[in-house]
Amino acid sequence: MARSVLVVEDERKLRELLRAYLERAGFAVYSTGSGAEAIGLARERALALIVLDLGLPDVSGEEVMREVRAVGDVPILVLTARASEEERIRGLELGADDYVTKPFSPRELVLRAQAIVRRGRGDTRAGEEDLVTFGEGELAIDESRRHASVRGGVVTLTPTEWGILAALATTPGRVFSRAELINRVRGYEFEGYERTVDSHVKNLRRKLELDPRTPRIIETVLGGGYRLGLRRDG
Ligand code: CA
Repeated sequence: MARSVLVVEDERKLRELLRAYLERAGFAVYSTGSGAEAIGLARERALALIVLDLGLPDVSGEEVMREVRAVGDVPILVLTARASEEERIRGLELGADDYVTKPFSPRELVLRAQAIVRRGRGDTRAGEEDLVTFGEGELAIDESRRHASVRGGVVTLTPTEWGILAALATTPGRVFSRAELINRVRGYEFEGYERTVDSHVKNLRRKLELDPRTPRIIETVLGGGYRLGLRRDG
C-alpha cells in the first residue's frame, strides 16, 4: 500500500513539483495551499508524513503544526523560506522531524521524506513484545513496537524523539554527543544540528520528566552531551 504524504505549500508551482516528485517515489500525495484545510486533512487521513511550508497565507505553519501535534504523531518535514535559524528552531521546537530550506532540490527533499517515513514505521512483528524497563519500572521501552511509557502512562513520541531516546537507552549511563545522536537518528549531520538535538531533548523531557527543569531521565553532561540517567532493570 502506498504511504500517504500531505504537501502543504501555497506556491502552486512548488506544490505541483513536490507532488510529482513524491508520486514518482511511490507516495500517494494529498496537497493543499491552505493551512486550515491541512489541519482537516491531517485529522481525517492516515498520513505517513506531512511536508509543511511555514509561510502560509491563512493559518501559520506553526499553528498547523500545533493542531496536528495535538491529535497525533505524524512526522513533519518543514519547509522554511529563509535560512533563518530562529524560524528553523521554532519549527523544531514545535516537534518537526526535519526541515529543508528553500530553495532546495526536490530530489533531496524526497530522500529526506523517505528517511523520515522509514524511521517512523514501527516494526511489524505482530504481538511480539520486547519490553525493557529502566529505573525500577519508571521508564519502559518496547523496541519492536517503538513504544515508550513512563510511570505507567504511554507517551507518544515523534520519530526523532523516539530515535534519541532509543539511542540513549542502548547504554544507560554512557554519554552520547549531539553529533552521535543526530547521526543515529538521521544518518547524517547538518548545520545547526546541535540546537536541533537540544530542541528534541527539551520536548522529550517535557513528556518524560516529572520536573523538566531538573531532569533525571535524560541528563545533560556539560561539554559532553546527554545520557540516560536511569539504570536498566533486571
Ligand atoms: Ca509559502
